[in-house]
Amino acid sequence: MAYGVRMSVTDASRDVGPRPPADSAPVGLGPVAAATVPLTEAEPGPLTEAQAGPGVEAQVGPAVEAAPARPSLSPSRAADFKTCPLLYRFRTIDRLPEPPTPDQARGTLVHAVLERLFDLPAAERSLAAASALVAPQWDRLRAEQPLLAELFGDETPAEFLDSTVDLLRGYFSVEDPTRLEPAEREYLVEAVVDDELLIRGYIDRLDVSPAGDLRVVDYKTGGAPREAFEARALFQLKFYALVLWRTRGVVPRSLRLIYLKDAEACDYSPDAEELTRFERTLVALWQAIDRATQERDFRPKPSKLCEWCAHHSRCPEFGGTPPPFPETVLPPTEAALAVGED
Ligand code: SF4
Repeated sequence: MAYGVRMSVTDASRDVGPRPPADSAPVGLGPVAAATVPLTEAEPGPLTEAQAGPGVEAQVGPAVEAAPARPSLSPSRAADFKTCPLLYRFRTIDRLPEPPTPDQARGTLVHAVLERLFDLPAAERSLAAASALVAPQWDRLRAEQPLLAELFGDETPAEFLDSTVDLLRGYFSVEDPTRLEPAEREYLVEAVVDDELLIRGYIDRLDVSPAGDLRVVDYKTGGAPREAFEARALFQLKFYALVLWRTRGVVPRSLRLIYLKDAEACDYSPDAEELTRFERTLVALWQAIDRATQERDFRPKPSKLCEWCAHHSRCPEFGGTPPPFPETVLPPTEAALAVGED
């Protein structure tokens, strides 16, 4: 495996611990699944646990009218359901707005800069060049995304832009982009599993070695302790690995998480057996989502991740009340696929 990467700080051998599901997006709703494929191995089995979460009475009603579309699942939405079924409902079914936090906006910005960095000739991909992209990319994002424009108004704090450069500094201490030629950036991948379920999402970067080995790279920028999100991140990468395996017939050699704030990279190597189990887990997860939608039963599952949840005012765990369940559940939009992504 020779991707031409030089890593100054790595944690390539670390086992990333439990592997929770990542994100899914509910689309067409078929009949309630009669059986659930058992969650296997490292999946912490939150499906039944989640369904039994405290604090909310089941909102059972007539079958929900469903938009006629193929069921689909993205890593973010799958992770939402696994993390907290009610969070999944708020984001994917109710589609409640979540104004970006500065941390989320910084993540969006640094992803944009790192994507554009590889537009430059290899020899010009320096920290200075990347830093010079920060302000123009922020202007572009503000022009394209009103919620980002509203974050700071007309005066973007210098600290925000400076801290973005700090994240770029973290990137350059892990990789040397002058030695990389990514095959893809912000790459939409999708595949059908179990003859019906469409799984899809965006890969930050895909590297392909001269020998044809694939490496999936994901940049993590959040300000939260990474332990809180690591399992979710690995789930996301395994999701992408499964899609690539199903579409290209090759199991990616490496899944790489780059923690920009910590200036560390974590590499993980999946195998076909693991991805086969993971595929069964995704199907089971989708069945659980489908069942919850039919029964209008998405319960809160409090955890330390509640600290970063934008929906306390509607969550029974915090004294709130969810809005009435929508009569029509729409297929996820592209934007919905990305909500909450780092
Ligand atoms: S606050 Fe916690 S329990 Fe409530 S919806 Fe958000 S993640 Fe779920």
